[in-house]
Amino acid sequence: MSDITAPFGGITIDFGAAGDAAPLAAVPLATAPGAGADGPLETNVLILGSGPAGLTAAIYAARANLAPIVLAGYQPGGQLTITSEVENYPGFPEGIQGPELMARFRQQAERFGTRVIDVEVERVDFSSRPFRAWAAGVEYRSQAVIVATGASALWLGLDSEERLRGHGVSACATCDGFFFRDKAVAVVGGGDTALEEALYLTRFASKVHLLHRRAEFRASRIMQARAESHPGIEIHRGVVVDEVLGEESVTGVRLRDVATGATTDLPVEGFFLAIGHRPNTAPFESWLAKDEKGYLVVEHETCSRIEGVFIAGDVHDHRYRQAVTAAGDGCRAAIDAERWLQDHVPAKAAAAATGT
Ligand code: NAP
Repeated sequence: MSDITAPFGGITIDFGAAGDAAPLAAVPLATAPGAGADGPLETNVLILGSGPAGLTAAIYAARANLAPIVLAGYQPGGQLTITSEVENYPGFPEGIQGPELMARFRQQAERFGTRVIDVEVERVDFSSRPFRAWAAGVEYRSQAVIVATGASALWLGLDSEERLRGHGVSACATCDGFFFRDKAVAVVGGGDTALEEALYLTRFASKVHLLHRRAEFRASRIMQARAESHPGIEIHRGVVVDEVLGEESVTGVRLRDVATGATTDLPVEGFFLAIGHRPNTAPFESWLAKDEKGYLVVEHETCSRIEGVFIAGDVHDHRYRQAVTAAGDGCRAAIDAERWLQDHVPAKAAAAATGT
């Protein structure tokens, strides 16, 4: 039996006999000067981020004997580690807990020789190869880089919201809406995402309360018309959420009227944040192009504007934002990186990077 303990929210996952399997391909890893017993700092492929995109890229790169290093980021496992049950990831007919799914991704990547380090990339230098990246004061070097740092949902910042995350508070209606069949829920936000999520939730919920801080919606007119005319949606304008109510799980939200300051408690069992996402692009500001929404731009396939730097997952995708699409993107980026390395990096340099 083998256990994987933290960093997945501190939970311990027992994988049973499957976890005892020996690595199929033991990849020799070089120890860079100064790396000591901590392992290599130089590799063929450095992967930034450890959500579905980053870890799928790692599985493919490791199985191609590229000895990838993954810098896992401030939230190892990515956004799925803050959801509860995942029922739309293929291959798990009974559903699987988000943290467990990501622990399995990680175990699969490590099984083939990926080195995963729980540090957050702070800055990079993509001016020449080997590319360089710094995390926790340590410099990592690589011939190719896959940027898979994902996006983070925006939260209101309430203590009660944080405490009840995964217990009725969610930032993803597509992921969690199903659990609120015949229950009243609230969605906060006034953009297209909020209205889309509110409409989606009407499939399950007995009532959807749409909470917006202003009178005017930011969302497109067609979405507004759909939400306004839907009998399952009640729109509350000019309100903010002061507190999410409930001890073990959500029982309601405390609303404050922004004009009068009056507060009322609205009973709901689900509370969905839809106030936007922020792609995690800070370390790449001066290197990679961004679109008008702040997401990284892919030039073609998974290639960025810098040769040898590839992009995968939610850091560039604001359309689909699903674990399975991010995983598919990670696979594509790893294949692109492998082919690019074959064509552009002399075998000697590649071997030196892995110590073979
Ligand atoms: P968004 O357009 O930035 O809207 C965010 C909404 O959340 C705004 O209404 C904003 O209120 C509200 N908000 C922000 N911070 C808040 C806070 N602290 N408390 C309360 N409310 C807060 O984000 P989005 O809806 O995620 O959309 C992002 C982009 O994706 C948009 O360009 C959108 O058109 C696009 N999108 C398109 C589709 C589609 O075409 N099917 C679907 C989803 C998203 P204010 O209005 O008062 O600022």
